[in-house]
Amino acid sequence: MADIIQLLPDHVANQIAAGEVVQRPASVVKELLENAIDADSNEIKLIIKDAGKTLIQVIDNGKGMSVTDARLSFERHATSKIKNAEDLFQLCTKGFRGEALASIAAIAHVELKTKRAVDELGTVIKMEGSKVEHQDVVVTPNGTSVAVKNLFFNIPARRNFLKSDTVELRHITDEFHRVALAHPDIAFVLYHNGGELFNLPNENYRQRIVHVFGAKTNEKLVPVNEETEVLKIEGFVGKPEFSKKTRSEQFFFVNNRFIKSPYLNHAVNAAYEGLLKEGYHPSYFLNLTVDTKTIDINIHPTKTEIKFDDEHTLYAILRSAIKHSLGQFNIAPVLDFEHQEQFNTPYSYKNKEASAPSIDVDRGYNPFKEETSQKGAIQRTSIRSNKTNNWESLYVGLESKSNGHNEPLKEFSFESDQVSTSLFDDTDSDNFQKPTFQLHNKYIVSTIKSGMLVIDQNRAHQRILYENFLKHITIKEATSQQLLFPINLDFTPNEIAIIKQLKSDLEHTGFVFTHIESVSVTISGVPIGVPESEVSILLEQLINDIENEVPDTNFSAADLLAKSLAKTLAIKNGQSLNRTEQEHMVNSLFACKEPNLSPTNRPTFITWSVDEIEKKF
Ligand code: ADP
Ligand code: MG
Repeated sequence: MADIIQLLPDHVANQIAAGEVVQRPASVVKELLENAIDADSNEIKLIIKDAGKTLIQVIDNGKGMSVTDARLSFERHATSKIKNAEDLFQLCTKGFRGEALASIAAIAHVELKTKRAVDELGTVIKMEGSKVEHQDVVVTPNGTSVAVKNLFFNIPARRNFLKSDTVELRHITDEFHRVALAHPDIAFVLYHNGGELFNLPNENYRQRIVHVFGAKTNEKLVPVNEETEVLKIEGFVGKPEFSKKTRSEQFFFVNNRFIKSPYLNHAVNAAYEGLLKEGYHPSYFLNLTVDTKTIDINIHPTKTEIKFDDEHTLYAILRSAIKHSLGQFNIAPVLDFEHQEQFNTPYSYKNKEASAPSIDVDRGYNPFKEETSQKGAIQRTSIRSNKTNNWESLYVGLESKSNGHNEPLKEFSFESDQVSTSLFDDTDSDNFQKPTFQLHNKYIVSTIKSGMLVIDQNRAHQRILYENFLKHITIKEATSQQLLFPINLDFTPNEIAIIKQLKSDLEHTGFVFTHIESVSVTISGVPIGVPESEVSILLEQLINDIENEVPDTNFSAADLLAKSLAKTLAIKNGQSLNRTEQEHMVNSLFACKEPNLSPTNRPTFITWSVDEIEKKF
């Protein structure tokens, strides 16, 4: 039988390699930025169109390439960065595989312009699907420009697989952040569709972090500096009270390369032991310098994972250094380093008086407090408001739409008639409200025809607020509370982009924006019932939620917005409610379209039938 094995043609091999190297536009951004850094540039421009689907261009002022090098750079395994296997163990460059340009040229239209300072004229090369379409001399500045157009033009399946522009752009800015944070000494500019998203001058590390994440970041940074024989740590951690619900501000760099390391992340968390609220993550921007011989970067094709020779020591040093910094800045009890023999001395705050973090979103207004000045708010969140009829009319036909979720409702004695009229009409004895009481400041207990009803007060209130906000957004009418002094809030360019995207929906809930600038917004009106002090927390939480959700195709901004506002503003567990407040809660809940589920699809109440209770005896 004839032999059947044959070598793959180059363009096919390149396309296969591209599958590994280039997952999405952001992968191209990473490779091109890294090449520009390896070329010793100190000014790098990144130009993006349509989230990278149309154009990704990186222009640097680095060392450039000769004509031959320019041509060779598109060959697979063509690299100037290593010469033999030993070099792999002392890598100082970002690239070394010699695969990126070959892979990118296999799946896109690439135009390279490059010139070395010693040359009079530069070289231009146009590639299309691994083929050289054009090569010439060209007048071009010193340095290199690589423009990647029509990514995945020859792999429609991959192109169709790309997410919305919002998502792809977020991946691009994530890569950009990582590179920009690792190299504060290099100036970076990022343009998207002609607009400038970032303009970062050559600066120090602290300034770079603040430039990327916004002016408000400055006050929360605590410096960490430690130098031992095996490891040097430089950078910043966030004060515990500024910890976030997302991990979006967690950065490790090893020898100026962004890496992910669950193990080292654990070391940081260990340093914060006892200082963080459940579900919150510390911010950190840490640059670790280790001997290149003691690490192996080669274990992951996109090189964000790394293997250390002596992980345990790094863990201990890192944890101690951070604890020490937090202690020095009076954030945690100070550690006495003199007496500490080894770095991993067990140390716990459990039995000591650690200063409690003061992140507290638990300040939601109480819509049921009649005597407060927020009476307007109460009127609108309760079904006693004048708008009750409008609200209900939104939900006509709801019984027929119920899909099993609403089934248990049928059992409630007060469901059918009481929803449409006030339950508190004392003159009507038929509608007399069933007694309620509060259990552990968390549950509202009441009786129903079939037995007992237990309502989770936080989830129930979330449902009530959620439907209320959603209604305002959908019918595009809301009442706003004018602020005496407009508030000015700082945000990052990314956050501003999200706010702009949500602006009209936010306005329908009652927000009034007077200015939206590149890194700040001015707000002169807020939804009724939202205390001024909550505004910043509210918007931050909202942005976090949206970032977390990774909005895809079926992303509804209105829905997310309503959910997020409801979550932040709903009364929390632990808050005591008086009788009237409890009753309002019960009534408002059952006036909802879908009372039995919280906006995040958790049950808002449970019922116990008398039968079930009897069985217990
Ligand atoms: P690697 O970076 O792994 O070496 P690449 O395919 O990314 O592989 O690049 C191939 C070679 O092309 C590099 O080794 C470098 O010599 C050259 N090169 C790529 N981009 C640039 C640039 N912006 N400036 C100068 N040289 C570059
Ligand atoms: Mg490279």
